[in-house]
Amino acid sequence: MARIHNKAYFNQKIVPIADAHLSVASSAVLYGLSIYTVFYVLPEKGRFRAFHLQEHYSRLRSSAKIIGLTWPKKLSFTQFQDIVRGLLEVNNPEEPVFVRATVHADDLLPGTRSRGVSTQLSMFVYTASPIMKPSGVRLKTSQWRRIPDNSIPSRAKVNGAYVNSVLAHQDARDAGYDDCIFLDQSGHVCELSAANIFMVRQGRLITPDTSSDLLEGINRRVIIELAEATGIPVQERAVDLTELYIADEVFVCGTSAFVASVSEIDGRLLEKKNPITQKIATLHAKALRSGDFL
Ligand code: PMP
Repeated sequence: MARIHNKAYFNQKIVPIADAHLSVASSAVLYGLSIYTVFYVLPEKGRFRAFHLQEHYSRLRSSAKIIGLTWPKKLSFTQFQDIVRGLLEVNNPEEPVFVRATVHADDLLPGTRSRGVSTQLSMFVYTASPIMKPSGVRLKTSQWRRIPDNSIPSRAKVNGAYVNSVLAHQDARDAGYDDCIFLDQSGHVCELSAANIFMVRQGRLITPDTSSDLLEGINRRVIIELAEATGIPVQERAVDLTELYIADEVFVCGTSAFVASVSEIDGRLLEKKNPITQKIATLHAKALRSGDFL
């Protein structure tokens, strides 16, 4: 189970988590009009290593741009980083944690608008187990399709869009699976409810390309780079569902999922040996231990 640490960042200051409240009349609450990111932090001798913080900041900014939300005043990367450091120092976690940073539309009753609506940044720290077991993950193709780029872009990490993930994830859980596989409108593979997906075919790593209605996951990018650096060829392209059924290996990745190998999709069993997945998982774990100090 997840445990939220005591202090949060809200209203431009550090406050007890119990005091970090948005109004029920804000667009964030009424329409899910917020954008967010979650990143991994590893404490080390009183300091904190954050995994690819710059990319998380940039993706958050891009999400705001796509949705048309006002970026909080003067929130440069340096300022963002200072807020993260300050929040970690007051909570002082001793074990690895996640930080969730959100930009909320906090104007009261502005109607269904984004531009010109006031926004504010919140952050909190939590400890949680990975959302996937590291091996033996069982997936079910969802009857719920991924929201297409021309409806709510998956590239933007928008809170309200996560209802799509909740529907598909809950449906998979109800059917006894660990998570769902989202397909797009044409039936190609997108991603899971909160993780990206890779397969291995004939020694090649293949993952849906970034125009496949998916979140451009930071771990997805890191894994592509790690694989290429070790000489594993990588292809980003449209992926058919049946390719996953006959793949040599399938794994998923994400900040909260880490790297997890898949053992079953829609009742079809996959190979038990996952040499490339294991190699990627080892490289990824090593990368997590060497995030930049804040
Ligand atoms: N897809 C979705 C829908 C997600 O919510 C996440 C988790 N943020 C991912 C993919 C993985 O992205 P990242 O590697 O940046 O955590």
